[in-house]
Amino acid sequence: MPRKKVDAVDLEQAEEVPLQPRRSGRKRKSTNYAEPKAEEADWKASPEKKSMIKKPKTENDKATIAAPVHAAIVVDDASPPPPTRPKPKKRARKARDDEVEYDHHGNEIRKREYLSYPPDKFEGKLERALNETRIAVIDRERTDSDGVPRERFTMMGNCYKGYTVNIGLVPKCDCMDFLMRRNSCKHIIYVLYHVLNVAYDSEFLYQHAFTTDELHRLLNEQTLAPAAAPQDLTRDGKQKEVEGECSICYTEFEPAKDSTVHCKSQCGNNFHSDCMKLWIRAQTNQYGKATCPMCRAIWVH
Ligand SMILES: [Zn+2]
Ligand SMILES: [Zn+2]
Ligand SMILES: [Zn+2]
Repeated sequence: MPRKKVDAVDLEQAEEVPLQPRRSGRKRKSTNYAEPKAEEADWKASPEKKSMIKKPKTENDKATIAAPVHAAIVVDDASPPPPTRPKPKKRARKARDDEVEYDHHGNEIRKREYLSYPPDKFEGKLERALNETRIAVIDRERTDSDGVPRERFTMMGNCYKGYTVNIGLVPKCDCMDFLMRRNSCKHIIYVLYHVLNVAYDSEFLYQHAFTTDELHRLLNEQTLAPAAAPQDLTRDGKQKEVEGECSICYTEFEPAKDSTVHCKSQCGNNFHSDCMKLWIRAQTNQYGKATCPMCRAIWVH
């Protein structure tokens, strides 16, 4: 059918665009430029076929129709056969960021370049992560896969904005700072330093990728979370001494200036008032009620 259509237009153009003699071996009626007239008349006689013939209306229309037809003829006859489409090369699948890769010696490949000294702007981020902000850690969940330790931290900042930090082969955060620069942000540094107890001068704070061994050290050898400590088993709801760290933001209490609240219903542990507000908001959103971060008893205001 398409073939016929081309012929039809072809014929119409015959008067204006001289056909090049065909060199292909394909059989065709001997070129007789008088003949098309008759054929065209025959076509027009049939109403349904008539609709298939587009009559150029203006000089411009003629030009636009003529061009492709002419091109079609050239391709058909004169050009070498169209090159066979090259087979798509089998490209080695790029390993995902959470897949371990090894070099040909069998050593694990770090997913990002090893940084032997802190990158630009790291100091500023470190300062902000360590001093300016307290970020509530609303939830933590181990998400190990294929023997690679991983942990997900759900965080909430002061404006109730939530962030998700993943510590794995390539640490990631969903905040704008990380998405723009794709390497580090204060939330990741916060988790490493405050939650996972990485030392202030450790290179772990600024690496953009960890190896499996490093993740074992970071996530498996950290000190136990306060919730698991045995002294939290008292149940009288009497306030404990304000000392150590708040188990929502993982920063040290400064009793002289911090406003705190404690668990009145059961364990008596202290939390920053600001942190507890974030905790209650997040818990209520998720579960419809808030429980103590330490003993999980219903939170009493
Ligand atoms: Zn972030
Ligand atoms: Zn706190
Ligand atoms: Zn409690």
